[in-house]
Amino acid sequence: MSVNLLLNGDLCRFLAKRSREMVIPAIELARRTSIKDFLEALGIPHPEIHRLRVNGEEKDFNHIVAENDRIEVFAVPWSIDLTRHNHLTPALHPIRFAVDANVGKLARMLRMTGFDTFYDPGLSDAELAETAWRDKRILLTRDIALLKRKKVVHGRLIRHSNPAEQLTEVIGLYGLRDQIVPFSRCLCCNNGLEEIAKAEIIDRLQPLTQKYYDDFKICRQCERLYWPGSHRERMLKLIEEL
Ligand SMILES: [Zn+2]
Repeated sequence: MSVNLLLNGDLCRFLAKRSREMVIPAIELARRTSIKDFLEALGIPHPEIHRLRVNGEEKDFNHIVAENDRIEVFAVPWSIDLTRHNHLTPALHPIRFAVDANVGKLARMLRMTGFDTFYDPGLSDAELAETAWRDKRILLTRDIALLKRKKVVHGRLIRHSNPAEQLTEVIGLYGLRDQIVPFSRCLCCNNGLEEIAKAEIIDRLQPLTQKYYDDFKICRQCERLYWPGSHRERMLKLIEEL
């Protein structure tokens, strides 16, 4: 049995045998298989697929690949609104993340920009996939095998290696620029920060901090204090660049 496969977008990057041709004709099929399993066996993780068309008709992942199928696979576009229903995945609201240990700095930056981000580098791949599925979070990783796990619904292979570029990638992809709220979330616990009067915490401050800063926020979970320091200036510059 053979099928005709047409890959759109940058999906060729996932093929074990890279082909510069976007059309890969006559792939041999050994057994009866769903289109999801078929494409994952070729190397393409299902969360990277936005739409599937077989012989000109929209299909979902359950389609059983048949002789001479003409399969068109569409990559997730460079900007996507996940709060609306897509062909293969349910709508997602609110937009929240679960971040793999291999992009740990991205987790911190997402929290800095105010996005609800689960991060626990102690979890196994199975536990992380389970958490993302249970909490309806987008799984962000650089591990292709993790994205192929059945539990993963929304996920993304992070393309960039530099954390600032990774942040730009995620914010651009999910159209989140207008939702950035800097310094609203604890970098350690992901908890929302609350404003706190200087008088209440003044005995916890270093003399120079006491002298130069008046606006403070606190994480009620870990009791960490946040205020506009040099770190914040660097972060604001980065956010402006976004
Ligand atoms: Zn905290």
